[in-house]
Amino acid sequence: TRELADADPAVDAAIHAELRREQQQIELIASENIVSKAVLEAQGSVLTNKYAEGYPGRRYYQGCGPSDSVETLAIERAKQLFGCGFANVQPHSGAQANGAVMMALLKPGDTIMGMSLAAGGHLTHGAPPAQSGKWFDAVQYGVRPDDHLVDFDEVERLAKEHQPKMIIAGGSAYPRHLDFARFRQIADEVGAILFVDMAHFAGLVAAGEHPSPFGHAHVVTTTTHKTLRGPRGGMVLTDDEAIAKKINSAVFPGLQGGPLMHVIAAKAVAFGEALQPEFKTYAKAVIANAQALANRLKERGADLVAGGTDTHLALVDLRPLGLTGKDADQSLEHAGITCNKNGVPFDPLPPVQTSGIRVGSPAGTTRGFGVEEFRDIADMVADVLDGLRVNGVDNNGAIEQSVNARVRALCDRFPIYQG
Ligand code: PLP
Repeated sequence: TRELADADPAVDAAIHAELRREQQQIELIASENIVSKAVLEAQGSVLTNKYAEGYPGRRYYQGCGPSDSVETLAIERAKQLFGCGFANVQPHSGAQANGAVMMALLKPGDTIMGMSLAAGGHLTHGAPPAQSGKWFDAVQYGVRPDDHLVDFDEVERLAKEHQPKMIIAGGSAYPRHLDFARFRQIADEVGAILFVDMAHFAGLVAAGEHPSPFGHAHVVTTTTHKTLRGPRGGMVLTDDEAIAKKINSAVFPGLQGGPLMHVIAAKAVAFGEALQPEFKTYAKAVIANAQALANRLKERGADLVAGGTDTHLALVDLRPLGLTGKDADQSLEHAGITCNKNGVPFDPLPPVQTSGIRVGSPAGTTRGFGVEEFRDIADMVADVLDGLRVNGVDNNGAIEQSVNARVRALCDRFPIYQG
């Protein structure tokens, strides 16, 4: 019954430090967001105590009535959000959701095809250090050198040559729309399953502000914590009943034990929020804001991978400024702006350095920043980068401090988690 501050001051202090960081920094990490207090409350609830192995109405434990209620709410809301026939809301994360799809539909040693990390794909799509790369015969496609768009000639050629069982579309640093119909056409030509991982742009799909993979993909996964603005977690969706049955068995008992019922409750809350008309307004603003941020950075001398963005994120190529992603994200953090270094297509630098940074608008848009604020943020970023060019990463402190004062003033105008 003791409060956390009393029971465990060290953990309480770390949580408060994180709260202050989120309140006082500008969050540009494209995969992050700021959840509502209602989502936080559901996730911090007594449902964490409950074992509910199985699915609603078919549990292996007693006392699952309330768990059945929240999981059914999450499932029904997810289906409504994406207009699909089936949802499994139990995956603990996006990686788990992707693992479940592979466990359901593949055998170790099967051939899969996904976008390479270097082109903006995700580890779980067949990258060499990941389980997907180690347990499957993974073929990786990339983007074209000139426009950084998916090279569909290469996708088709590789598919015909390697006859993959599964083609994966989606990524973590791809700023443009993906042509799901073209992917499906190639998958059909070789008899492959088309699996779309919409983790990054799911919130935009839910709001009708991004093309939907449904109607093209056999199976779709997402994380729930990026543009969808829910708790950290994953989900698998499909319209195919035979695939749905296999997915349920793959998630439990195939890959996971008891579902995280407190997280599933928070997913239900977030999906309920995403069904409201305000979420469409939010998603539209996310895209307009990402474009404002990216365009201003371009005006200030950076290059944009793929020439710009259709989504919530932009990949900024720093080579015209003569800077590395490593120096840039470090100096920006000192100024109170959080983003991540990111390789650009055909990057000559290793992943620990990189030639780019990835920036995104989901979190800033949630706290109320609009186009004007995102242009200001781009100027703050560019001022830090200009300082870096002159001062180097070890001597940019004065610029970092003056930009930080602007960051703090902007954050104070758009407070989060007050009271
Ligand atoms: N898929 C994509 C496209 C992602 O970007 C990510 C996360 O960055 C994941 C899957 C993995 O999600 P998680 O970190 O929840 O395992």
